[in-house]
Amino acid sequence: MASVNLEAFRGELRRWLEDNVPDDLRGFTLRRRLTPERLESLRSWNRRLADARWAAIAWPVEYGGRAAGVLEQLVHAEEMDRASAPGPLNPIGLSNIAPAIMQFGTEAQKARFLDRMLRGEDVWCQGFSEPEAGSDLASLRTTAVRHRNVFVVNGQKVWTTLGPHADWCELLVRTDPHARTRHRGISALLVDMHSEGVEVRPLRTLTGGEEFSEVFLTDVAVPVENLLGELDGGWKVAMTTLSYERAGVVTLTLRMRRRLDRVFEAIAAAELPAAQAAALRQEAMGCLVDQRCLDYLGRRAIATTAAGQDPGALSPLAKLRWSLLEQRLERVTALLGPSALEGLWAEEALQSRSATIAGGTTEIQKLVLADRFLGLPREPSP
Ligand SMILES: Cc1cc2nc3c(=O)[nH]c(=O)nc-3n(C[C@H](O)[C@H](O)[C@H](O)COP(=O)(O)OP(=O)(O)OC[C@H]3O[C@@H](n4cnc5c(N)ncnc54)[C@H](O)[C@@H]3O)c2cc1C
Repeated sequence: MASVNLEAFRGELRRWLEDNVPDDLRGFTLRRRLTPERLESLRSWNRRLADARWAAIAWPVEYGGRAAGVLEQLVHAEEMDRASAPGPLNPIGLSNIAPAIMQFGTEAQKARFLDRMLRGEDVWCQGFSEPEAGSDLASLRTTAVRHRNVFVVNGQKVWTTLGPHADWCELLVRTDPHARTRHRGISALLVDMHSEGVEVRPLRTLTGGEEFSEVFLTDVAVPVENLLGELDGGWKVAMTTLSYERAGVVTLTLRMRRRLDRVFEAIAAAELPAAQAAALRQEAMGCLVDQRCLDYLGRRAIATTAAGQDPGALSPLAKLRWSLLEQRLERVTALLGPSALEGLWAEEALQSRSATIAGGTTEIQKLVLADRFLGLPREPSP
């Protein structure tokens, strides 16, 4: 999509969304509670998106995408948000795991997994974090030992988003416990979540949802052809997977803008003493200013990428500022009174707590900025 006409692209997508988004799914996000019926209607919506090639526009054309550049992806995010259209069922799969399969996978793996992932036929999760390996991912302990044509996997993962609904998992395992450094000796396996020995225990979060899980693996046999990339070369695969995680900040910022609109409406509708309403509006305006700055920051990162340059500090900076703003906004909504403790408001408020942890914690973003971009002295290693 080298010299695409952005406005024509926007018009085509807008018309398609007007005709196709099911009313009962408008405004639904995967972060809300998933019932089996919801899952089925999301799957059917996902198929419709995939058939029209709107599910993963950044994917190459041969895999059902449009080879869209970052500017089209931005327009796509804006129009999906404008139409309150839910994204595909496999957000982690499409934007993180698929690029790793495209880069490191065999032709057989690409043929077997990509199309089903695109259409939401298989739901994917990412099994990286463990109880003793989060920020310090390289300390992971889940092992895989080769025995004839299979790897035998034992260990535990945690915080696995979509784990309770997942059919497949990109799992990081230790294949060489004697490697010279901890980063070597890790491999990436594509694991069927319905295999014998996989036990998924949903984790109920503060919001009451069960989209997270622990995953216990006991003598799980994974065929050797499900190794992704080289044996003991999983760190490279993992870093490729995670490098795509930042791309979503602009979408998140757009969603925050909608939330702010609702906050202003709620302040106007609430019967508050004038001074209190004015103080709340002032705080909400502060959030709006931050949101606009963040929006520009995200767009600058996108424009930099579009120009073929490395966005550098912009990505960790955008993640850091977005997560802090999520929590600032939550403090504003809490002041709206008892109504802020119900429904969507309550879910958003509770979810905002996880923003400073998911996708790299605040402290880790600050370390990256200090170390790589400000040139401050490195943290002493324990
Ligand atoms: C919403 C959400 C979705 C997630 N989805 C997934 C998923 O699908 N798959 C998956 O594998 N994982 C997932 N995770 C896990 C996530 O990747 C980890 O929670 C994250 O990497 C932090 O690891 P941890 O929880 O073990 O905390 P720890 O790494 O143990 O950190 C604990 C505290 O110590 C601080 N800290 C750690 N190291 C340093 C340091 N060097 N210097 C200063 N402070 C430090 C941290 O900032 C934090 O405050 C998800 C988490 C959340 C919240």
